[in-house]
Amino acid sequence: MAAAVPSIESAAVGAAAEVLRFLSGPPKQLLIDGKWVNAKSGATFETINPANEEVLALVAEGDKADIDDAVAAARRAFETGRWQSMGPHQRARYLLKIADLIESHGEELAQLITLDNGKPIAESISEVGRTVDTFRYYAGWATKFYGETNPSAPALFNYTLREPVGVCGQIIPWNGPLSTISWKIAPALAFGNTVVLKPAEQTPLPAIRVGELICEAGLPDGVVNIVTGFGPTAGGALAAHPNVDKVAFTGSTEVGKLILQASAGNLKRVSLELGGKSPNVIFPDAPLEAAVAMSATGVFRNQGQVCCAATRMFVQERIYDEFADRIAAKANEIKLGAPLDRTTTMGPLVSSEQHERVLGYLKLARDEGAYAKAGGERGPQPKGYFVKPTIYTQVHNAMRIAREEIFGPVAVLIPFKDENDAVFQGNDTIYGLGAGVWTRDLSRAHKVARALRAGSVWINCYGLIDPISPFGGYKQSGFGRELGPQSIDLYTQIKSVYVKL
Ligand code: NAP
Ligand code: MG
Repeated sequence: MAAAVPSIESAAVGAAAEVLRFLSGPPKQLLIDGKWVNAKSGATFETINPANEEVLALVAEGDKADIDDAVAAARRAFETGRWQSMGPHQRARYLLKIADLIESHGEELAQLITLDNGKPIAESISEVGRTVDTFRYYAGWATKFYGETNPSAPALFNYTLREPVGVCGQIIPWNGPLSTISWKIAPALAFGNTVVLKPAEQTPLPAIRVGELICEAGLPDGVVNIVTGFGPTAGGALAAHPNVDKVAFTGSTEVGKLILQASAGNLKRVSLELGGKSPNVIFPDAPLEAAVAMSATGVFRNQGQVCCAATRMFVQERIYDEFADRIAAKANEIKLGAPLDRTTTMGPLVSSEQHERVLGYLKLARDEGAYAKAGGERGPQPKGYFVKPTIYTQVHNAMRIAREEIFGPVAVLIPFKDENDAVFQGNDTIYGLGAGVWTRDLSRAHKVARALRAGSVWINCYGLIDPISPFGGYKQSGFGRELGPQSIDLYTQIKSVYVKL
């Protein structure tokens, strides 16, 4: 158990003065109707630094009563037209202001991500950059979502209006605690909705700091509300709330199914971005050096806690041994350690639960007869939730380690014979989030990209995500597309208007 009385200097060792200032002081509060308030119950929970298991801060534990208040505030902000009726140019300016504030507090936010989540600071800095880009991208869309005029009878005029959906409940995970805020909040706000955000209990701090920046940007009260707390209570209340019009969720497939059930009460709209077990197919004519390097990043970035991580690597038989040697060598080059240290290339997993879960899979791998070509065990650090970057050979696609989402730095290498075999095995999964194809043969690359049933396919690269292009899942990886112009469909609804001439 972590120490009850937090010593910030020790828990956040290496952090900048403004971060220590943010972490010090009274427990963090909920943002409801433009004010920071305690949970009605008065309850708080600890958020932990996974690199040293010490308490970073106490955070308000919101539950159903607080969700009720936040939803009521978001509803008032929506119905009074405080946000929607200020018009698209003004909304765009607010989004740009939020982007500017996040950018100018970039180092501080990056440190908060790293402290709360454990990812190396360089990855957090890049997450801040992607967050800023996403806010700016959707600021542009605020002025560019159009209705249509439609052909009808001569004495009729028909047109459509794109209108906001209303109050949006947004539930986000801990693996991208800042970027997922932008994926959710930015399009919702651009198109005139109001929001109640429920961050993951493991990483509430970046969301709380962004909440402060949103207040600084001067958004009207109640447009963005943030309720920290636990999934089954705060998250469950938001998903089931009769006064929420839409819920957007990113997280596990298991909880995604609960969200869908909870939404049935008032038929709220739902979009789900869930788990994956993504195939990454390497043909013998692949640019091998790049394939090794980017496949390693594709599975080890963020300690492997990425929904589209390249966890199932299908390698053509002829190059299997060479590829295995080279990617294992890359894994062994990774420097596991304190994530605020700029020379560290892999930090700890996010929580003791996640650590136990991944260590359980490492044991399962041994029981299933896989061979750990790299890693296969916890890190040597006496404290913190470290796992060595792990590559398994002697794996086939029916093993549990090849079928279940591990959400840790663990890849399995599976041989294939030919293109059909690669596609068949690659698609033999309940998931369909990402996929990679490595080959210099252009026509094969495009053929395989079409054949793989996944929402994103990367050819001779892996895991690149740009807000200009939609992201989302096939099969049990969810439905709905975030990012790109497709977010318009998630956050607007269409009204058809007939005029008798
Ligand atoms: P999770 O339970 O699905 O958490 C995601 C979010 O949903 C969190 O904000 C969580 O709150 C909330 N939540 C949990 N139960 C809920 C419920 N009954 N109703 C409404 N909201 C609920 O994921 P996790 O437990 O943190 O991680 C478990 C596994 O999920 C991972 O090992 C991984 O396989 C997968 N995962 C996938 C992604 C992704 O990006 N696709 C992200 C994270 C995890 P609390 O955090 O307070 O529980
Ligand atoms: Mg959970």
